[in-house]
Amino acid sequence: MSKFDVPYKIYLDEKDIPSSWYNVRADMKNKPAPLIHPATLKPLSFEEMRPIFCDELIRQELDDTTPYIRIPNEIQNFYKMYRPSPLVHAVYLEELLGTPAHIFYKFEGNNTSGSHKLNSAIAQAYYAKKQGLKGVTTETGAGQWGTALAMACSFFQLECKVYMVKVSYEQKPFRREVMRTYGASVTPSPSMDTKIGRKINADHPNTTGSLGCAISEAVEVATSTDGYRYVLGSVLNQVLLHQSVIGLETKAACEKYGIKPDIIIGCAGGGSNLGGLISPFMGEKLRGEADYQFIAVEPASCPSFTRGKFAYDFCDTGKVCPMAKMYTLGHDFIPSANHAGGLRYHGMSSILSQLYHDGMMEARAVEQTSVFEAAEMFARVEGILPAPESSHAIRVAIDEALKCKETGEEKTIIMGLTGTGYFDMTAYEKYNDGTMTDYIPTDEDLAKGFATIPNVSL
Ligand SMILES: *Cc1c(COP(=O)(O)O)cnc(C)c1O
Repeated sequence: MSKFDVPYKIYLDEKDIPSSWYNVRADMKNKPAPLIHPATLKPLSFEEMRPIFCDELIRQELDDTTPYIRIPNEIQNFYKMYRPSPLVHAVYLEELLGTPAHIFYKFEGNNTSGSHKLNSAIAQAYYAKKQGLKGVTTETGAGQWGTALAMACSFFQLECKVYMVKVSYEQKPFRREVMRTYGASVTPSPSMDTKIGRKINADHPNTTGSLGCAISEAVEVATSTDGYRYVLGSVLNQVLLHQSVIGLETKAACEKYGIKPDIIIGCAGGGSNLGGLISPFMGEKLRGEADYQFIAVEPASCPSFTRGKFAYDFCDTGKVCPMAKMYTLGHDFIPSANHAGGLRYHGMSSILSQLYHDGMMEARAVEQTSVFEAAEMFARVEGILPAPESSHAIRVAIDEALKCKETGEEKTIIMGLTGTGYFDMTAYEKYNDGTMTDYIPTDEDLAKGFATIPNVSL
């Protein structure tokens, strides 16, 4: 394949937006473990989930067998405002690296939320509206999910209460204002509005918060407010399902232009963009129709896959959520304070955890200074200022392309470029000033988190 056999930017037509999501669980022999009730340790039933989640989303959460689930017209129409997203041939990055590899990136940053999160936010808001609910609650860390959900809720005229990790609330006032512009209320977490928030504040005075705390608060408010439910932007099966639009479009573009990926790379926080990107390709691998190398990239300071335990654990610090079987660092784990690169959740999607456990995909942990080095290389030649999270995938794509330079192999690499980094300039500033540092937790550091994993052998 010569460099310009395919157009630089592959825009699909509007009619190439998928009309169904793909549910990779249907093709998995070993299904992901179900969410369980912390008291009974039994799989949560539909009825038990109803106080927390929207009905249709629970059906999607529990559906391990239907391969294709129709995307309602209202959601398809919303997707048309910013999809299909382009698959871009990174020719200038290839030139810079002098690699024979072909690098493509699927760019999800072309919407105001600046990330792929809108793909699931709009679906979740739609089902909440259809159920006649008044509003939803959620947590947000860096703020992309909260922004996406605020946009989706304003589109469907739903109320939206966002609990934002305190340190981000203070460091990212502009994210907060975007959410408020879309009509959401934003509360720094831990707050004094909830029982769990007051308890966390009492137990850990001066805490700057964590995603796990913010989830506990959002769930408490949802379950104690009439006409409200809780929604989550990653980790859950339903979120990976919605994010399969990324992979389905990527596959359509590959088929249209005869691109055959060897390696597919994505960053992994809770696993939603990676799961969405690889799902249709993983389906082929699971059915024995094709083979691909899949690589999850995580921060060395929050290494759920590469150093975590595969066990049932709580999804949140306050232990108000169901337990999920996943690769986890323990629900009390908080990455070290110098960590600026996102992807800081202690656990990982149960679907990806099972696939990783079964040897269907790989994982790598990378240090943040090398991530920002990759981010700047990419920004300078490809024009897009990538989110720090996305830059984890760029780092490993570059590493793989450099390996090809040594071996002379002409591999085709696709990576997920999940978003833009305009709200992360404090992190870029640290990198540019040379004050960014790396911290890799010691085994002793991790042991503290592991000690909080409940002893459930299922
Ligand atoms: C939230 C986010 C991620 C990580 O979340 P996943 O669920 O693992 O995909 C990655 N990139 C960006 C830009 C994000 O906003």
